[in-house]
Amino acid sequence: MRNLIGVDLEEIKDIMSALGEPGYRARQIFSGIYVRLLRSWDSFTDLGKPLRKKLKERFVIGHPPVQRVFVSKDGTRRYLFELSAGQRIEAVFIPEEKRDTVCISTQVGCAVGCLFCATGRLRMQRNLTPGEIVGQVLALEADRETEAKRLNIVIMGMGEPLNNYENVMQAVRLMADERGMSVHPRRITLSTAGVVPGILALAKEPVVPNLAISLNATTDPVRDRLIPINKKWNIAALLEACRSFPLESRRSITFEYVLIDGVNDSVIDAHRLAKLLKGMKKKVNLIPLNAADSISLKPPSPERILEFQKILIDRHITANIRRSRGTDIAAACGMLAGSVTSVGQ
Ligand code: SAH
Ligand code: SF4
Repeated sequence: MRNLIGVDLEEIKDIMSALGEPGYRARQIFSGIYVRLLRSWDSFTDLGKPLRKKLKERFVIGHPPVQRVFVSKDGTRRYLFELSAGQRIEAVFIPEEKRDTVCISTQVGCAVGCLFCATGRLRMQRNLTPGEIVGQVLALEADRETEAKRLNIVIMGMGEPLNNYENVMQAVRLMADERGMSVHPRRITLSTAGVVPGILALAKEPVVPNLAISLNATTDPVRDRLIPINKKWNIAALLEACRSFPLESRRSITFEYVLIDGVNDSVIDAHRLAKLLKGMKKKVNLIPLNAADSISLKPPSPERILEFQKILIDRHITANIRRSRGTDIAAACGMLAGSVTSVGQ
């Protein structure tokens, strides 16, 4: 049976008219799914019984199946979904004082294979469908304590979103649709390892999320080693695409920089980073490496991290050190590997 999650309102309208139903029924269904978070046709009490029966025979509203939820000491929750045997993905719910952030996946595994990332150590299995991508947000929203806080969505879980371009964009449009979930595009951030054609295409979309770039190095030889697709699109090509990316007045590009001891954390790197980003509207997120057993790299010392940050700040660059959330349950950046235990495998 077909899952209606991931199907846009226009198509639901077509489906309704094929069933001989008026167009406003589609609006009711769409808001039932994305606003009221309903999951069964019986809960649609605003639809008559005969229609509910027809829908039940043809469609489901299937949130991705949650296999387990791990809860961190800091309140972060890691959701492990089992899509089918052996196909696991994860999403992370990060409660903060003024907002909740959900971090979602776009692929089962990742073909990019970054040296420092646990997801990159997994075999790439498949792209997620639009319904599986937006469905993660619905599944996490269903457990939210309050809707009073703002919701931010970050597309930074497992997978490279720009390698699953069409499905991710369909999901983004559904998240932003004001007739449904209605998350402002400024509250949605897409992070990429640097798929340049994808960045150029994104710039032309009707709904454009914030762009985050996983830069992680300041020279091509180092970046080639850390992020293999740098051999295809090097730092110069990547930054050129960023410079051409249209930004509304209040927006900037986020550059993520995972700090790795002895690899990309020198004083020279910090100065070179400032120089590379010169003239761009940007902010830098410094992410001390989250070490995993499968990776023989370490984060720098706290002093080194502060020193790196200070060099950027002295050059008038907004640079935040990202406090890791949920490390005790393997929920932090780069730790997502579909692990069924609370600490990374
Ligand atoms: N594929 C996309 C989005 C998912 S990765 C991308 O690479 O941007 C999300 C972020 O986690 C990226 O910025 C990546 O550089 C970072 N990351 C990966 N492994 C990490 C690790 N071990 N420690 C800290 N951050 C990591
Ligand atoms: Fe894939 Fe991003 Fe991990 Fe690199 S950092 S392997 S692109 S998920």
